[in-house]
Amino acid sequence: MPEKLIYMDNSATSPVNPEVLEAMLPYFNEEYGNASTLYTLGVEAKKAVDKARQQVAELINAEVDEITFTSGGSESDNMIIKGVALKEKQKATEENPRNHIITSTIEHPAVLETCKFLEKFGYEVTYLPVGESGIIDLEDLENAIKDSTILISIMHSNNEIGSIQPTKEIGEIAHKHDVLFHSDAVQSAGKIPVDVKDQNIDLLSISAHKINGPKGVGAVYIKKGVYLEVLIHGGGQEKGLRSGTENVPGIVGLGKAAEIAKNNLKENMEHNRQIRDELIEKVTSTIKDSYVNGSLENRLPNNVHFRFSGIEGESLILRLDKKGINGATGSACSTHDLKGSHVLAAIGIKPALSHGSLRLSIGPENNIEDVDYIVESISEVVSYLRNISPLWDNKTDTYIGDMFEKEVDEEDLDRY
Ligand SMILES: *Cc1c(COP(=O)(O)O)cnc(C)c1O
Repeated sequence: MPEKLIYMDNSATSPVNPEVLEAMLPYFNEEYGNASTLYTLGVEAKKAVDKARQQVAELINAEVDEITFTSGGSESDNMIIKGVALKEKQKATEENPRNHIITSTIEHPAVLETCKFLEKFGYEVTYLPVGESGIIDLEDLENAIKDSTILISIMHSNNEIGSIQPTKEIGEIAHKHDVLFHSDAVQSAGKIPVDVKDQNIDLLSISAHKINGPKGVGAVYIKKGVYLEVLIHGGGQEKGLRSGTENVPGIVGLGKAAEIAKNNLKENMEHNRQIRDELIEKVTSTIKDSYVNGSLENRLPNNVHFRFSGIEGESLILRLDKKGINGATGSACSTHDLKGSHVLAAIGIKPALSHGSLRLSIGPENNIEDVDYIVESISEVVSYLRNISPLWDNKTDTYIGDMFEKEVDEEDLDRY
């Protein structure tokens, strides 16, 4: 192992901030009460949960009682989309089935798989395309709305290419047509300003482990006056919206992480942006045939996603790991099946090129001083891999993969 690890995969998960850990620890032993009991120990646990609710509400400019805790981003997305779908279908009439959902082709699988699941039960889903920039077209959105539309679920920002959607405008369109607007803000909350009031958001998902909090805890924001069918029944915790004994240490950790992220938002954005921009500048100027996937303008300050022709992302990741650098590749979320990324397919990146991708997602603990080492390492590994690649001609130092290239793999798109 190299001496130190440069961890740049913060969009996959992030290290728990020491202050967060410290805040959580007492709730594993001294303060082990059940937050739903009446004696002091339980009341102390309840107070801690309420404080965390306040901290999360403040991060996204919501009211305290609009926040419900869950087991993470995936549960939050499932709870909201299925909850709205079941609720609204009860209002169906002969003329209006109230069963239509609009989402995008680049959502996280927690949204896309939930939509696929609902399609099996008579719901209709429109998957809006995105352009090269990874951003939906507002005109497409408005054209897709019909009488039966009950929900628009468009992510706040994308976990792979970092593209930021125009949430305020999406919310305006949704409300003009009396449709609810859900946004998966797992990658945005704590990274860029998220304001549910200003951005016209009715329902929102967040997760602790993407913002230097613990894994296995998250929250939903449900605007006052919006009702969901409940999915997890039991003892009636979280006002009956989500039963199950509260994960007090996890919730305390989420609250603390939200507070820290809010207090340092501007500073972290600037820090991340500087590292990102220097990486982009140095990589694209020193490595031949290197490109940035997605929009340069509407992009998370902590996300950069490179594409190198002629190489294979998995080899790149493994070789960078040996140099102490952790990133993700074009099949980030499907390391289990090694298929190309549905997000890169959706923005028109052909399969062979999509496999030669590298996502670096920056966090507060990364250092700008490490950029030169990172760029040098990527450059070395890319040269090595091209040298042994059948898609690279060493004599002319050029990419020759085009002659073998397929168009965007329909299968990659069709998986969703
Ligand atoms: C990570 C992620 C999720 C899932 O959150 P978990 O807490 O890991 O379940 C959902 N949506 C997006 C955009 C994510 O990046």
